[in-house]
Amino acid sequence: MATLEIRDLHVTVEADNATKEILKGVDLTVKQGETHAIMGPNGSGKSTLAYSLAGHPKYTITSGTVTLDGENVLEMEVDERARAGVFLAMQYPVEVPGVSVSNFLRTSATAIRGEAPKLRTWVKEVKEAMERLNMDPSFAERNVNEGFSGGEKKRHEILQLELLKPKIAILDETDSGLDVDALRIVSEGINRVRENGDVGTLLVTHYTRILRYIKPDYVHVFAGGRIVESGGAELADQLENEGYDKYVKGGA
Ligand code: ADP
Ligand code: MG
Ligand code: MG
Repeated sequence: MATLEIRDLHVTVEADNATKEILKGVDLTVKQGETHAIMGPNGSGKSTLAYSLAGHPKYTITSGTVTLDGENVLEMEVDERARAGVFLAMQYPVEVPGVSVSNFLRTSATAIRGEAPKLRTWVKEVKEAMERLNMDPSFAERNVNEGFSGGEKKRHEILQLELLKPKIAILDETDSGLDVDALRIVSEGINRVRENGDVGTLLVTHYTRILRYIKPDYVHVFAGGRIVESGGAELADQLENEGYDKYVKGGA
């Protein structure tokens, strides 16, 4: 069972010629098979945590460690992280001009598995995964993220998740910009991956509504750049009723 361990993570960004500390000591352990929800007010640093784990160059890790089964994730190149089994779906995914979804997925799968998937079974795998996500087959020929609607981006994330079968998946605001039907389809996709793939999931979200479809094992409240409270699924219900006020006052 793979384990992602984040210990006392501190991260800064450069903004307006000043260095600003955004993450102020994040501690979290995610094991394969577990689902953790990170919830918190806007601006609390949730996306910064996701970007830092992704190795985004804008974010400087000033102290702390991130390991996957003891291996230093922070020293890995972005593609090495993927090969090690860490999947990061970004809140604002980038466009990849001139690369079709189909080619992008096959290249990613090749990088992760160490060999190219057999074309015939691969085409079938992609087709079936797309059907499950209610995606039109023509989507496979579009360029990655070029003109994708919010819902298409999210479906594309879940499609990657289903096909690439990571050990640990970090999903940032997967629920934002989805209507109820799309939210259900995307949630079902995440649940399928959880059931089949033995994935550890870090679900970063501002709103509780996705947690009606995806039951987390653990809920963490994020405020002021760190986890300020942890509990079970009942903590999400409490947040739905009470909001984040009590965590923000004097805090973040
Ligand atoms: P959340 O995802 O919880 O809404 P973010 O991680 O997006 O929070 O942002 C946390 C804080 O860090 C905010 O004050 C935001 O303005 C700042 N921040 C995040 N990324 C950057 C960046 N690339 N440049 C400047 N400031 C940033
Ligand atoms: Mg934000
Ligand atoms: Mg965010």
